[in-house]
Amino acid sequence: MVRETKFYDLLGVAVDANDTQIKKAYRKQALKYHPDKNPSSEAAEKFKELTVAYEVLSDSEKRNIYDQVGEEGLSGGGGGAGGFGGFGGFGDDIFSQFFGGGGAQRPRGPQRGKDIRHEMAATLEELYKGRTAKLALNKQVLCSGCNGRGGKEGAVKKCVSCNGQGMKFVTRQMGPMIQRFQVECDACHGTGTIIDPKDRCKVCNGKKVANERKILEVHIEPGMKDGQKIVFQGEADQAPDIIPGDVVFAITQRPHKHFERKGDNLHYLAEVDLLTAVAGGEFAVEHVSGEWLKVGIVAGEVISPGMTKVIEGKGMPIQKYGGYGNLIITFKVNFPQNHFADEESLKKLEQILPPRNVPTFPKSADVEECVLSDFDPSRHSASQSYGRGSNYDSDDEEKGGAEGVQCASQ
Ligand SMILES: [Zn+2]
Ligand SMILES: [Zn+2]
Repeated sequence: MVRETKFYDLLGVAVDANDTQIKKAYRKQALKYHPDKNPSSEAAEKFKELTVAYEVLSDSEKRNIYDQVGEEGLSGGGGGAGGFGGFGGFGDDIFSQFFGGGGAQRPRGPQRGKDIRHEMAATLEELYKGRTAKLALNKQVLCSGCNGRGGKEGAVKKCVSCNGQGMKFVTRQMGPMIQRFQVECDACHGTGTIIDPKDRCKVCNGKKVANERKILEVHIEPGMKDGQKIVFQGEADQAPDIIPGDVVFAITQRPHKHFERKGDNLHYLAEVDLLTAVAGGEFAVEHVSGEWLKVGIVAGEVISPGMTKVIEGKGMPIQKYGGYGNLIITFKVNFPQNHFADEESLKKLEQILPPRNVPTFPKSADVEECVLSDFDPSRHSASQSYGRGSNYDSDDEEKGGAEGVQCASQ
């Protein structure tokens, strides 16, 4: 077979030219025929041919095939020159690799590395006042000895075994089927490049990366909320040919024993005694700001159980906008114990408190008189009070007096 030399001739190099000579030749010719420099249609055609020739000769695998069987061998079974049919913007792409810009822009940038996410637990007190936490991060960085190349400049060669892909296809017969698998290239361990041991970077031994301990200062700003994120852009692991991801801290607000937060407001359950609730007094709140609040209930104001009041401006700080949310207070009124006063004293209450509400019954009503007992869950709960296997119907259950009210017919 006569060896085909068309591609070499196009570039004007010898058939034994090395990579550098081929590159130089292409560069020289492409500059002459690039459509930007030379608008004639012959030049455009020539530029396309040059680029195809360069694409083949600059790739050791393709060059091998071309040398052995010529252009036909490169069509990949697609039939004739059709294999190279869709080159369109391809020439531009190679051109822009050489000369920067000018070519078609393709959204094919480097890959972005993974983000590193951490939870950052914070108490309400910390979210109120703000806090700076110093956190040590162990991260992978590009080796400073070789800038992540792994060896001396120019010493890093594309892996021939996998054509720089880091992966290879293998075919395996499984019964009647032939399956194609993608496996990591064993020659370059998936890196796509090979470095001669003598040219390897002494610092990283060709690994291209090193581990580094970095201290990050995480600023929790006053008023930050649960789930809010603090982002350190590009601080995640570095690796050759990727854009490092971010380190992201997500705030988790720890539950507080007294306060519940809703947005910028704080909710608090205040317990007051009956006297304070009806005759005025004070109660104290230990606030998340660290200060104590003395809250007055003025005489004449009546606090009923479950009532809601507000102390304005005593909620959480409002991040970015300034100011504070509100402190919403719900009351629990603690009533006195049984027999807290003798009958005579209780009579005095009749003079003070609004009169009793005395119930009235319709004249025709059949009225039963009932007595209250203390509720005992072990005896009065619905699940406890009716025996195993019993077949009471629902009427009986109602009459059973689960509320602890016993009734007797009059
Ligand atoms: Zn290195
Ligand atoms: Zn390889």
